[in-house]
Amino acid sequence: MSTIFDKILDGSIPCHRVYEDSSVLAFLDISPLSPGHTLVIPKRAAAHLHQLPDEDAAALGRALPRIARAILAVTGATDYNVLQNNGAAAHQAVMHVHFHIIPRLGDAGLGIRWSPGSLPDGTTLAASIRAALEA
Ligand code: 5GP
Repeated sequence: MSTIFDKILDGSIPCHRVYEDSSVLAFLDISPLSPGHTLVIPKRAAAHLHQLPDEDAAALGRALPRIARAILAVTGATDYNVLQNNGAAAHQAVMHVHFHIIPRLGDAGLGIRWSPGSLPDGTTLAASIRAALEA
């Protein structure tokens, strides 16, 4: 399924580009939560993070800290969030993998509602996830 980010990638709609390599593009978010709010995307189209091949994931991992350093240097922020939503219920609006880098500048930045639960059976759950990783 094509998304607005495909149009940014093919140049048919403009963006404020901040970084590009053979696998990754980063550009300013059109509706920033704070100055410097940037989106970092793989050039390969995939809706969700778990669908990305390792090489694209690695390219994103290499680029993210470097882009974050530049955003901090330019905005003067020291604190920031990296946000990556997967699925509509998890607040994903554009179904092409993207990482938000969101500087915290005073009250401007990512608002978080965090409702911690308890971990009644971490042993079984962790073992199940390990088994899934090995499958
Ligand atoms: P999501 O909720 O999917 O994690 O976030 C999607 C982000 O994409 C939003 O922060 C939104 O402002 C941004 N966005 C949507 N359309 C465009 C666009 O055409 N250009 C840019 N630069 N950002 C966009």
